[in-house]
Parts: sequence; C-alpha cells; structure tokens
Amino acid sequence: KLLMEVKDLTAVIAESGKKILNGVNLSIYEGEIHAIMGKNGSGKSTFAKVLVGHRDYEVTGGSVIFKGENLLEMEAEDRSLAGLFLSFQSPVEIPGVSNSDFLQMAYNARRRKLNLPELDPLQFYGYIMPKLEMVNIKADFLNRNVNEGFSGGEKKRNEILQLAVLGAELAILDEIDSGLDVDALRDVAKAVNALMTPTNSVLMITHYRRLLEFIKPTYIHIMDDGRITKTGYKFLTCREFLGVLELQVRLNMMRS
Ligand code: ADP
Ligand code: MG
Ligand code: MG
Repeated sequence: KLLMEVKDLTAVIAESGKKILNGVNLSIYEGEIHAIMGKNGSGKSTFAKVLVGHRDYEVTGGSVIFKGENLLEMEAEDRSLAGLFLSFQSPVEIPGVSNSDFLQMAYNARRRKLNLPELDPLQFYGYIMPKLEMVNIKADFLNRNVNEGFSGGEKKRNEILQLAVLGAELAILDEIDSGLDVDALRDVAKAVNALMTPTNSVLMITHYRRLLEFIKPTYIHIMDDGRITKTGYKFLTCREFLGVLELQVRLNMMRS
C-alpha cells in the first residue's frame, strides 16, 4: 500500500527565494526502507525538512500525498501526529525540560490524537523501559534535560528513543550515522530494524555506505541539485552481488 507519494516537488528558501528543490519524485510503500545519498548541498536535508513543514522553506510546486491526505496543507504539528517523524541532523537542546517529561508529553499528545487515554508517569515508565533497552541507553538518561550536554552519539540515540516512543508510519532519519562510532551505529541500526513492521517505512539520508550495511534499504536514490536523479533497485549485499555476477557469467557461457 502506498504510504507517501511525492510528485514534482519544488521548494525555495523562504527568506531569500533561492530554489533548492527542483522537482523531487518519490513513492514510498508500506514496509519499505529508502535511502537517499548525494553530495553535500544537494538538498537532502531540505527535502526532509520540507516534508515535515519546516518554516524556513516554501513549497512552490508539486504535491505530497501522505496516507491519502494532502501533506502540504497540514500544519507541521499535525504532520507529526499523522505519523511522520524526522530525526534531526543536529538535535536541539531544551534546557529545563527533562527527557522523560518531554517524551511523556509528546507521547500523550499522540495518544490523544488516536483517542487513547493518556498515560500517567508510572504507566509511562513501564512503557518506556523496554524502549531504553532497545536503544541500549541507561535509565538516568530520562532525568537529564533534552540533549543538554549530550555527546553526539547520545543525541543520535536519543533521536531513536524518541522514534521508538512516538512510533511513526514514516521515519525520516537524516544522517543518523554521522559522528557515531561503530558500537553506537550498531545500536542505532538494531533499534531501527526492530522498529520496522510490515506497515511502516523508513527514509534514511546518509553520506556513508557504512550505514547501508546495517540497515538494508529496499531502494537507494541519488539526489543531485535538488532532485532524485538515480534510483537503484534493492540494494544487494556484496555476496548477493557476486552471486548475480556469477549467474550472468554462467548465462553468457550457456548462450555462447
Ligand atoms: P544536504 O543535506 O544535501 O547537504 P541541504 O538541503 O542542507 O543539503 O542544503 C542544500 C542547499 O541549500 C545548500 O546550498 C544550503 O546551503 C542551502 N540551504 C539549505 N537550507 C538553508 C537555509 N535555511 N538558509 C540558507 N541556505 C540554505
Ligand atoms: Mg549537508
Ligand atoms: Mg544534510
């Protein structure tokens, strides 16, 4: 089932009018993992931020249908409540607000939207403990202020914790791998893989092939100058690739 369909999306920087997205086309079905790669400045983060309704950008053309609704007409907050999640390349600090309060507030807002009863602090504690384990972070994390004094790796883990708590039909992960050592990368990838279900999808933006070894995308896209210029079918592992190559060689031998 189609989850999101982006057609000829164009967008400019609101302040300067500078054109950044030059007609992005992308269809994401339920259960798929898409990766977008491309050189720095090609518009990957802008695309992600336009999807969540960031006010630095203005959409000038095209359409985005998300779960059958016109995403571009929705307020940023409603997009999030509808099941769109963006992890930030540089997560913001929120001094004076503890991680647990922040997560509980955000999660209860999601539950209200779904007409579910809110969780009290004790119930929320029960809900979040397995999630902490999933991302491999310690419970004292919850008492610290949101991202305040966190290392780069802790911030990224915290983004994934937010995703695990809130849940999302489409999780957009913008350079979730940058600045992570291999252990943190493995934890983050493990959690993302564990969060996959047959009905949700992931769009990951990355510079590094390394991440693709831990999270296997269904499709890889290349973004260049504000549009997707190439799409590779299902990413093959090195061994699968060699298998295909061998098969082709054999077929050629049979033909000749
Ligand atoms: P990527 O994520 O692929 O590295 P970005 O989407 O961050 O690329 O940036 C694309 C281009 O748009 C860059 O030239 C960047 O400098 C510019 N840009 C993006 N956002 C802004 C902004 N808010 N203000 C000014 N320039 C921006
Ligand atoms: Mg960049
Ligand atoms: Mg970027």
